[in-house]
Amino acid sequence: MIVLRGGTVVTMDARRSVVRGDVLIAQGRIQSVGKSVRAPKVKVIDCTGRAVIPGLVQAHVHLCQVLFRNHADGLELLDWLSQRIWPYEAAHDARSLGFSARLGIAELLLGGTTAILDMATVHHTDAVLQAALEGGIRYTGGKCLMDAASGPLHEDTAPALEEAERLGRKWHGAAGGRIRWALCPRFVLSCSEKMLHEVRVLSAREGWLVHTHASENRTEVEQVRKQTGRDNVEYFDDLGLCGPRTVLAHCVHVTENETRILAETKTSAVHCPGANLKLASGHAPVPRLLAEGVNVALGADGAPCNNTLDAFHEMRLAATLHLPQFGPRAMPASEVLAMATIRGARALGLADEIGSIEPGKKADLTIIDLTGAHCQPAGPDPHATLVYCARASDVTDVFVEGRAVVRNRKLLTLDAPKLGAAAANETARILRRARVSV
Ligand SMILES: [Zn+2]
Repeated sequence: MIVLRGGTVVTMDARRSVVRGDVLIAQGRIQSVGKSVRAPKVKVIDCTGRAVIPGLVQAHVHLCQVLFRNHADGLELLDWLSQRIWPYEAAHDARSLGFSARLGIAELLLGGTTAILDMATVHHTDAVLQAALEGGIRYTGGKCLMDAASGPLHEDTAPALEEAERLGRKWHGAAGGRIRWALCPRFVLSCSEKMLHEVRVLSAREGWLVHTHASENRTEVEQVRKQTGRDNVEYFDDLGLCGPRTVLAHCVHVTENETRILAETKTSAVHCPGANLKLASGHAPVPRLLAEGVNVALGADGAPCNNTLDAFHEMRLAATLHLPQFGPRAMPASEVLAMATIRGARALGLADEIGSIEPGKKADLTIIDLTGAHCQPAGPDPHATLVYCARASDVTDVFVEGRAVVRNRKLLTLDAPKLGAAAANETARILRRARVSV
């Protein structure tokens, strides 16, 4: 049993309650919130001056791309993919891919993110899942599907789907359910209609999430329209792909009709403001999506288009980016934090298990030091301090299902300093194989 003692508990329950007091963890779950716990044989962590929040959820990342950080700047989406990311991904071997995933998991956990929805690359997917198993993060994700792409990542439809199904059966539910499988068609332009149809069938049969990109960039949107005669979300809906098991990254250029479809079908959208700005894509109309009833989560997307996996950076952007257009009250801090917690959990299909601090839920928790000069003086609303002031480096302790993965700012599951020191060499190996000059 562990007691997190005397912190400001930002619960993210339906009432967005904030309580001051203890959180009791036992058998990987939250036992009580706010009650003073005095019992023998409990491990006590002093949370004075700290916020205890639900572990942050990022519903769109690419661990496979972390080693490409700072090696794909200054490009728009389609050039960024074809000139850099696809050649780099194709140059991965199992070793470099596992390294990339470990480096990303280290950054995510040290920054308070406990759960991710990931899109791996086409090959060597076991290496990513193995890294998630060792790193201790709550992982949902899967092999990228690209049967309509020309170039080095192309696969034929049937073998690609067979591998996705085989890997799903192997990994879904591993580590007591901490590891879950998702079907990941990259985006409309790299997938045949046959592939998307089979993904729907497989998802319905196995209950696996569908994780893809939609309406990120204007040229992409035009090409989708030309290829399918539909807007992106309408096309997915026609194929029966919209629904509560589907998560669409970006949704930057969605129409009113597409917004209505997202809301009615309970399809989740993932806002990735850092990546959307850096790839010059634009930004999703998040206040409008939320007002129409769409579940909007948050994600950093890839390290080479952001260039960090820092949930606090994404929260601050999401809280401020929309205000010139929609007004100063359009993105309340508590709702931005909800996008990074309970709404992210809902996108992952895990809202009953994680995403808020309530008795019975799994103890995925992040502790944040709010005593730094940049957080003081604390105002009346801790949601605001967390969203507008706090930084990833303020995260002191992180728990996934009651297991400490970060203690006193040190990652316990992987050797973060060693990964950081060796990263440049690993990237150099990839660049030599990819023969891309940057
Ligand atoms: Zn992405």
